[in-house]
Amino acid sequence: MIDIAIIGGGAAGLTAGMYAARGGCQVTVFESFLPGGQSAKIRHLENYPGFAQGVSGVDFVLALQEQASRFGVEFCYETITGLHLQGEEKLLISAKNRYPAQTVIIATGASPRKIGLAGEERLTGRGVSYCATCDGALFRDQAVAVVGGGDTALTDALVLANYAARVYLIHRRDAFRGSFILQQRVKQTANIETVMSHVPKQLIGEDKLQGLVLQSTVTDLQRTLPVAGLFVAVGVNPQTEFFQDQLELSGNGAILVDGKMATSCPGVYAAGDCRETPLRQVVTAAADGAVAASSALEYLISQGKTLHRS
Ligand SMILES: Cc1cc2nc3c(=O)[nH]c(=O)nc-3n(C[C@H](O)[C@H](O)[C@H](O)COP(=O)(O)OP(=O)(O)OC[C@H]3O[C@@H](n4cnc5c(N)ncnc54)[C@H](O)[C@@H]3O)c2cc1C
Repeated sequence: MIDIAIIGGGAAGLTAGMYAARGGCQVTVFESFLPGGQSAKIRHLENYPGFAQGVSGVDFVLALQEQASRFGVEFCYETITGLHLQGEEKLLISAKNRYPAQTVIIATGASPRKIGLAGEERLTGRGVSYCATCDGALFRDQAVAVVGGGDTALTDALVLANYAARVYLIHRRDAFRGSFILQQRVKQTANIETVMSHVPKQLIGEDKLQGLVLQSTVTDLQRTLPVAGLFVAVGVNPQTEFFQDQLELSGNGAILVDGKMATSCPGVYAAGDCRETPLRQVVTAAADGAVAASSALEYLISQGKTLHRS
């Protein structure tokens, strides 16, 4: 029996694991791929406290995993496809096995939202991308577009400006939502052109993206951009589909938690991008993970449960 089963090995899951194992519990982190989640995609993490010069996402994740392992966290590289959360004993189900656990911390993160245009699926990896840090270098000296108005879109535009000849930053409103400092940097970057009050209307290209038609949100006018790359940064979908009928979720599918990261189900906690939160960042995911682990420990003790490792 696992004391604390953690689903997801991103910043939230790894931090939760480290706190829980350090607190004397048997902890298993279940991860579909490699540990790190989205943090591993960050080229230069410059806003995590304590790294004055920033750190690469991969280095950050490797250090976090090593730290979690040092305190005894066990890893199981399987995708959890089913969950039974009601009742005292929880059950995690993968294609290979069933894992009973006393408590569960859900840290499944989020995946990027699509814009919903015809051909988006077909052109993904052929010009359409959801990760500027991953794919930006493929568009060296070409024109690209970024769609979105938050921090991710502004950051993506700045990252891409290092490679691309021209970056069009498209937003449906007349003002960005992203932070002031990023807006200032965008303004100061000569090869970024902001295109406000427009939305993507049509992708041009069969085998690879060749252009993007935009529609004004205030007039009937359309505009065609001759871009080879389109970077979509319009928000995220929390990864909560496989247990959505067992927990209270927000309108966009994020898990609702209280200040202790407790979900609507006793003994089940959530942390990071999969929960309803005003800010999805590495630092908030890590902080959530710490709170969730300490709450799960408190729950185990209050319920008089036997811990399987001291
Ligand atoms: C390109 C990019 C740049 C970013 N830049 C920054 C930045 O500069 N600064 C910053 O603070 N934040 C940044 N972010 C956001 C930050 O990375 C995330 O907010 C944070 O990493 C979320 O961590 P998490 O642990 O909640 O989720 P995730 O990192 O999404 O981890 C979730 C993990 O759960 C696993 N998982 C999901 N479902 C299952 C399942 N059923 N079974 C097993 N495993 C499962 C996934 O494989 C994944 O590894 C960036 C994000 C991206 C994509």
